[in-house]
Amino acid sequence: MTRTVYVNGEYLPETEAKVSIFDRGFLFADGVYEVTSVLNGKLIDFAGHAKRLDRSLTELEMKRPISTEDLLEVHRELVSRNGLTEGLIYLQITRGAPGDRDFAFPPEETEPTVVLFTQAMPGLEASPKAKTGLKIVSVEDLRWGRRDIKTVQLLYPSLGKMAAKKAGCDDAWMVEDGVVTEGTSNNAYIVTKAGTIVTRQLSNDILHGITRAAVLRFAREAQMKVEERPFTIAEAQDAAEAFVTSASAFVMPVVEIDGAPVGGGMVGPIATRLREIYLEEMHKAAI
Ligand code: PMP
Repeated sequence: MTRTVYVNGEYLPETEAKVSIFDRGFLFADGVYEVTSVLNGKLIDFAGHAKRLDRSLTELEMKRPISTEDLLEVHRELVSRNGLTEGLIYLQITRGAPGDRDFAFPPEETEPTVVLFTQAMPGLEASPKAKTGLKIVSVEDLRWGRRDIKTVQLLYPSLGKMAAKKAGCDDAWMVEDGVVTEGTSNNAYIVTKAGTIVTRQLSNDILHGITRAAVLRFAREAQMKVEERPFTIAEAQDAAEAFVTSASAFVMPVVEIDGAPVGGGMVGPIATRLREIYLEEMHKAAI
């Protein structure tokens, strides 16, 4: 099926959608993005993603080319035109295509490039991995220092994912100064033997996950104990449970880290419960 995608105000068949070779997203990774999941044809936590997009644009001094209201309309239109029931919508905004390669930002009048497309993912919610859990390898975190901005510079996380694949695992957790920052495309958590959920505190060192914010809120509402602090791989290997969160994985259990089973290599009750609560609440709030 030919998808309908959105490029700079137009809905086009994917085969006709074009972006300039001078686009700064292409030449400098000078762009930001968001991924919003779609369940039952509805958007999950659109408001959270729109808010973070605003912050990313502000931090990079990029123009905001489209209002949140119009963005919501584009998301809904793409869901409708593509008959998307389960999957995600990818959104990217770059600093545009000034026509010459120059490290300096382009002239004020250069219009940002706005691209959105859908990815169908049947079975996303019922993913069998939620029952069996992920295997993780650790890699050194060699990314830049502003990981709180959701930029399209994803080469290092991509290399991390490949390191995991080569090791027969599902994903990588990145480690800096001896403690875990986050996963290649998700936030990382452990559950201590005393039942406390531990995840790294927000700073420039990690992406401020939209799923993270919701899951921590639901955990606290359910009277679970939450501690926001760094943890080591050794502590994670010795924990009762581990899991990750992201917009497209929701809450996903981790059962092995660097070859060591976590929680006896079985998916734990807290990760399972948090996944249930998250999905239940998000279905209710979906728009
Ligand atoms: N950390 C990183 C590095 C990510 O790429 C992502 C997913 N984009 C996340 C965390 C999770 O963020 P969210 O819950 O907003 O998808």
